[in-house]
Amino acid sequence: MDYENTKKRAVYLRNLLNEYSRRYYVLDDPAVEDSEYDALQRELAAIETDYPDLQTPDSPTARVGGSASGMFSPVAHTVRMESLQDAFSEEELWDFDRRVRETLPVAEYVVEPKIDGLSVSLEYENGIFRRGSTRGNGDVGEDVTANLRTVRSIPLRLAREIPFLEVRGEVYMPKKAFAELQTRQEENGDKPFKNPRNAAAGSLRQKDPRITAERSLDIFIFNIQRIEGETISGHKQSLDLLRELGLRTIPEYTRVPSMQQAVECVRSIGKRRTGLPYDIDGAVIKVDDLHSRALLGSTAKYPKWAVAFKYPPEEKQTTLTDIEVAVGRTGVLTPTAILEPVLLAGTTVGRATLHNQDFITEKDIRLGDTVTVRKAGDIIPEIVSVCAHAPQSVPYRLPECCPSCGAKVVREADEAAVRCVNPECPAQLLRNLIHFCSKGGMDMEGFGEAVLEKMVEKGMLHTAADLYRLNSAKIQAIEGLREKSAQNLIDSVEKSKSAGLEKLLCALGIRHVGEKGAKLLAAHFGDIDAILAASAEDIGRIDGFGGVMAQSVADYFALPGTTDLLHQLRESGVRMAAAQAVEDHRFSGMTFVLTGTLETLTRTQASAMIERFGGKAASSVSKKTTYVVAGEAAGSKLQKAQSLGVPILTESQFLQMCQ
Ligand code: NAD
Repeated sequence: MDYENTKKRAVYLRNLLNEYSRRYYVLDDPAVEDSEYDALQRELAAIETDYPDLQTPDSPTARVGGSASGMFSPVAHTVRMESLQDAFSEEELWDFDRRVRETLPVAEYVVEPKIDGLSVSLEYENGIFRRGSTRGNGDVGEDVTANLRTVRSIPLRLAREIPFLEVRGEVYMPKKAFAELQTRQEENGDKPFKNPRNAAAGSLRQKDPRITAERSLDIFIFNIQRIEGETISGHKQSLDLLRELGLRTIPEYTRVPSMQQAVECVRSIGKRRTGLPYDIDGAVIKVDDLHSRALLGSTAKYPKWAVAFKYPPEEKQTTLTDIEVAVGRTGVLTPTAILEPVLLAGTTVGRATLHNQDFITEKDIRLGDTVTVRKAGDIIPEIVSVCAHAPQSVPYRLPECCPSCGAKVVREADEAAVRCVNPECPAQLLRNLIHFCSKGGMDMEGFGEAVLEKMVEKGMLHTAADLYRLNSAKIQAIEGLREKSAQNLIDSVEKSKSAGLEKLLCALGIRHVGEKGAKLLAAHFGDIDAILAASAEDIGRIDGFGGVMAQSVADYFALPGTTDLLHQLRESGVRMAAAQAVEDHRFSGMTFVLTGTLETLTRTQASAMIERFGGKAASSVSKKTTYVVAGEAAGSKLQKAQSLGVPILTESQFLQMCQ
């Protein structure tokens, strides 16, 4: 890469890593796996080594953690809470040893497991716990004293009174507590945490300490930051003292005279790591002698006297017993490997995604194979490679026909995905309906997957338009749905009619059009008729719309099925125009029903005018209807209005009211 491109890449990596760090440290919601983050960080570090002028003070390679969230009061750390330099191979441990020996020809090391939690500082005055804080950016953290008081293994009084003690430790969530929390979160419909570290951080950084108290957090103390009233010369000695004071110190710490023995300790911890009741992500090797540590000093980010060896993700072998193929909303066939269950990084794994045909072909994965699995970032199970093919096995091909409807599947030239394009495919129908009713779509409360699935099974729904034809009797034909639930569902359907164009466009599930695309389309065209009349080029002129997106919209609206669906939705009273800003409230509290063909206005235009003046356009006539606007060839709605005595307006009378 030339200098200019390298510079661009460095800026890109810095911004990306800063955003990932914010998600990880401030929001406790990592966006990517640690291994991916580490790889990007290494790439940036390599660029900065080659081109020192590209290094900036805000580079994530030079910064500790993230900034404090502002949720808690800040705590300035008198002793900086540093990070650790990483090593991903034994060779890198030996490099570390060489660097140490340049300053210290003789060095003893202490080896400890590296607990995967979050770093905190605890301060004791005259033996009493006074304050606890998070690491934050190393210099300023957050005051989480109240929350730390709920962690039972933190003594509020030390076994012996000493004038001042500040220690550093790792708050973590034991694997068992994490599994229980996951189950509870799932049952309550809360967003589950990604891993125990994330759960520990999220639980400690709660505004309400009662929530922290329920989360079974624990702590291991691994360092003395500052002490008054005692003299200590070595790290092991300090850990022994902490233990004596009643603090829960790191579960094992071994002092060894050489790097060779330190490496053996690292291997030994690695072998036992998955059996431990808490997560560790490595082992730390530290120079024992505190005076020597001072001689070695620190960089802006980490001490030069310690190194963290990061273990590779755990791998296991198992048998692939089957490949399950599901059909997604967009018709994509997604293969999942069914595995002989195997215990991996703390949980039993029985499934792993196979992504697509290319992934399967590239790894030559076949039914019955013995495969190596691991958890990406210790979370998501994946197949790393095939160890042995099953006897007489043949290369696996995704089915040529859709497993749901039997239609022939297609693979577009530029895509990895194989797709069922049958618009009537039931698997797609269900997914489409789920999407149509979802929050981002028409936001129809009560229409969850289970209810929709039963409605599809009973043949009540063939398209989204059928949702608007449901009535109480039909709904009650479904087991478990009584009159009250049926009414709630009907109310949701009714409410969705006024959701507006933007929601409707999103609900339709047009390929490449999400909430953002729908918003742009609605704002640009204002109503569905204008979109129906637009070409791919017209659509492509919208700022923020790429060619592929524009073509996909044009293709979707050109399908006969689409015109038909939109016609039915319109007939049911679904609003086809963007939300109107209310100009004045002359129609406030009034409900209008439009019927027949108006002479100058389209229905969309007339509805928009009603809304502009604060009124509501409804699809059916009732006693509550204020006016019916009747055009040419008005039928049953006009008759009903007459029988109920609802006032009837001609188009010109309506227009006069709008002047
Ligand atoms: P780190 O977690 O790799 O190492 C430093 C920490 O180890 C210290 O803060 C300390 O609290 C802890 N520790 C545990 N046991 C210890 C022991 N026995 N002795 C000393 N320290 C011990 O470094 P970091 O700077 O906190 O974070 C970097 C890590 O965070 C990387 O692994 C990175 O992948 C991850 N990260 C991930 C994302 C993401 O988006 N996934 C974003 C930012 C950071």
